[in-house]
Amino acid sequence: MNFDVVIIGGGLSGMACGIALAERGKRCAIISTGQSALHFCSGSFDFLGYVNGFDVETPATTLAKVIPPTHPYARIGADRAIAIAREVPAFFERMGVKVNGSIDRNHYRITPLGIMKPTWLSLADFDAIPEKARLPWSKVSIQNIAGFLDFHTAFVADNLERIGTECSVSAINMPEFDHLRTSPTEMRSANIAKVFEGNDDAVRHFAAIVERNAADAHAVMLPAVFGLADSHAVEVLKQAVKLPICFIPVLPPSVPGIRTQITMRRRFEALGGTYFLGDTVTSARMENGKVAAISTRNLADDELRASHFVLATGSFFGHGLEARPDKVVETLFDADVVADGDRDRWYNHEIFAEQPYMSFGVATDATFHPTKGGKAISNLYAAGSVLSNHNPIKEASGAGVALISALHVADLITPQQQAK
Ligand SMILES: Cc1cc2nc3c(=O)[nH]c(=O)nc-3n(C[C@H](O)[C@H](O)[C@H](O)COP(=O)(O)OP(=O)(O)OC[C@H]3O[C@@H](n4cnc5c(N)ncnc54)[C@H](O)[C@@H]3O)c2cc1C
Repeated sequence: MNFDVVIIGGGLSGMACGIALAERGKRCAIISTGQSALHFCSGSFDFLGYVNGFDVETPATTLAKVIPPTHPYARIGADRAIAIAREVPAFFERMGVKVNGSIDRNHYRITPLGIMKPTWLSLADFDAIPEKARLPWSKVSIQNIAGFLDFHTAFVADNLERIGTECSVSAINMPEFDHLRTSPTEMRSANIAKVFEGNDDAVRHFAAIVERNAADAHAVMLPAVFGLADSHAVEVLKQAVKLPICFIPVLPPSVPGIRTQITMRRRFEALGGTYFLGDTVTSARMENGKVAAISTRNLADDELRASHFVLATGSFFGHGLEARPDKVVETLFDADVVADGDRDRWYNHEIFAEQPYMSFGVATDATFHPTKGGKAISNLYAAGSVLSNHNPIKEASGAGVALISALHVADLITPQQQAK
């Protein structure tokens, strides 16, 4: 099979790159083994949340001053990275995903434990909370689904009370949840979301109970378990409840994250892209230092050939990188990696300290071509968390690096072409 571009990995970076290229008329394929970090995501996309442990308020003006030259943003160019970031809300809007937030000012998101973290964009379900030390509401009603153990209302209330919010906590029961209670493994976020899919009556019934429980609160906080295939259930709920609803991410799987993954896939396929889900790229055939074709587990007799290939296989989590007893490797091309040679220096014994392995990744030249033996593979590009020299946790930069590098790689593959 022949394509213009074959993308290996269908997480946020692979999908974004594929969509951007397909918007420009390129014939693309994405091959993805399975779940990506989106399935675990908070519903917010970080760009640059922390520098030296301090919250970043204005990423657009801060970036150029603080970013080390090896960081993916610096290699793209700080100005260009910001310019791409400005295009991202419209990029999502074109696929029907609405986001809150701006690269000019970070807002805050509430973690599953009720802690405030700086972020760049949040899916429209989630409020863009302007201040860290104060919620827009002085009194909130935190409501869970009875028996749902992946949303910890007591932690959330405890942490929100620390910033002066009066909290009440209640649990909701409805007959629609009875079948989930047969086993604790059934009472999970995605299964709860399925109860409300295409069942507006159930959503309105739930909304009526929420309003009753809320009493005199100024806002309601609910677990983010609505809207799996699309955001319809979220919209119905928001219309039915008269108070502002603030969704809080729960322990994985992430319903808004799965929805984003589904929506991106839908957009890619609507633009003519070919998506091979549940398949794994097993090897690459090289010719004259270039990738000529790749083979996959399911299409063993049918190579995928293309002019350009994109490595978007993720970090250790996505299996783009692997830690062996003596070294860290890039799993598919055995490309050069930036990693400490001494295993004892891979991690810090202080669990909450900066972990060096988080910055390990594939080595690239200035135009994001991975190198092998120091030589660039000229028709292969790397994007997303497989890249080296950024630390998504310490910097709160994960989705930013994934999106900006993916869109930058799409620009490198199609110079001068604008998205439709
Ligand atoms: C658990 C978790 C939660 C996170 N939550 C957030 C968040 O809320 N906000 C934020 O800003 N950042 C978050 N991050 C940071 C995250 O790294 C980025 O946000 C981003 O989603 C990474 O996307 P990616 O496409 O680079 O990698 P991944 O999401 O890891 O995707 C890589 C994909 O490649 C596939 N793959 C790997 N090898 C092959 C192969 N040989 N053949 C075919 N497919 C292959 C994998 O199956 C996977 O689907 C999170 C990271 C993790 C690990």
